[in-house]
Amino acid sequence: MLQKEWDLTKIEDRIQKRAIERRRPLSCIWELTYHCNFHCRMCYVRMTDEQAAPFGRLRTVDEWLDMARQIYDAGVLYLTLTGGECTLYPGFERLYEQLYGMGFRLCIMSNAGAYKDGTRELFRKFPPHRAAITLYGGSNQTYAAVTGDPYGFDKVLENIRYFQSIGVRITLNFTVIRQNVLDYPIIGRLSQQLNVPYTITTDIAEHQRDPSFSDAAACRLTPAQRACVDCHSPEDVVKALEDAESLEMELQNFRMPPVPFRESSSDGTQKTMLNDCIGSYTGGAILWNGDMQCCISMGAYHHQKPFEIGFEKAWEQMKNEHGFIFQYPGICRNCQLLSECEHNCPGRRVEGTKSPLEPDLYICQYSYLLKLYKSRINNQKI
Ligand code: SF4
Ligand code: SF4
Repeated sequence: MLQKEWDLTKIEDRIQKRAIERRRPLSCIWELTYHCNFHCRMCYVRMTDEQAAPFGRLRTVDEWLDMARQIYDAGVLYLTLTGGECTLYPGFERLYEQLYGMGFRLCIMSNAGAYKDGTRELFRKFPPHRAAITLYGGSNQTYAAVTGDPYGFDKVLENIRYFQSIGVRITLNFTVIRQNVLDYPIIGRLSQQLNVPYTITTDIAEHQRDPSFSDAAACRLTPAQRACVDCHSPEDVVKALEDAESLEMELQNFRMPPVPFRESSSDGTQKTMLNDCIGSYTGGAILWNGDMQCCISMGAYHHQKPFEIGFEKAWEQMKNEHGFIFQYPGICRNCQLLSECEHNCPGRRVEGTKSPLEPDLYICQYSYLLKLYKSRINNQKI
């Protein structure tokens, strides 16, 4: 996945390519808090203080500012703030203003449902480079069903319009579960009306810390529903869900590939087949309690401790673990779906199985059905 069409006349591509070659940090994501204004039933991060206590404490503003100086010295340019809802982090305004002043390219990853007047004023004075806003439906009724907030949609829409009024670039991501999938056409139209691009996420993993902290497994789309919805435009979502019922039957023929008997090559050396991604070469994610991995999805896996040992040392340690974490599981190397298997990265495997080396059955079934469904659609077209 390291192949990319580089356009070296563009400064951002030049910087990124050089950072990859040198294995130097260029982007960071900070998950400031597990607190959130919404109570999404499928959430992977939100917790009560009691649930979070065994995993550590929130870092203070001064600690984050010290970390900011360290990543600045290390060469990080792109900094994304997320949560929970990052704007609810205590001291968010002071932290944000200082980070802005240091010149980071700030991205706010947010549900846009909790801004106070002070937060809006902050964004007006110091506009983020981008606001990545997650949508949970296309009406207040759906927001009530997914997030528990009966006015959620109105609040989010108002804040999206506010961002537009102050010239902030926005991207939308619609997180799709069973309770909101029928709103997909509304999201498609909304994106056109607002003239803002959107993506959808149908791949939902369980809560990072404890599956009992959310309802993710019960409310996510089935592998068949995901495959069908992913193959259709928003307006065809009803047809997609109808097709999913018959596609589901195909799971009777699904078998996991065998675990390889030997994993060494003939010369006795360990075969490694790297499951690389560009982000892992130049990015780091620091969670609310100070743990660091190469991406947020690795949240439940072994971490580095940059607040204790310093960012540079933590970066080096992370780099040294890369070859182990990013190898494909033996079972995937034996799998005919490997080249088409989406979302099969170590972070997603950790989300599904707590191990970077264990494939997640949900992903495997989805990949199997997606391939079948695509060929069905293609045959219908012929
Ligand atoms: S808005 Fe995001 S962080 Fe908040 S509860 Fe929903 S999924 Fe979790
Ligand atoms: S995760 Fe993908 S490549 Fe690995 S076994 Fe499952 S379907 Fe095959």
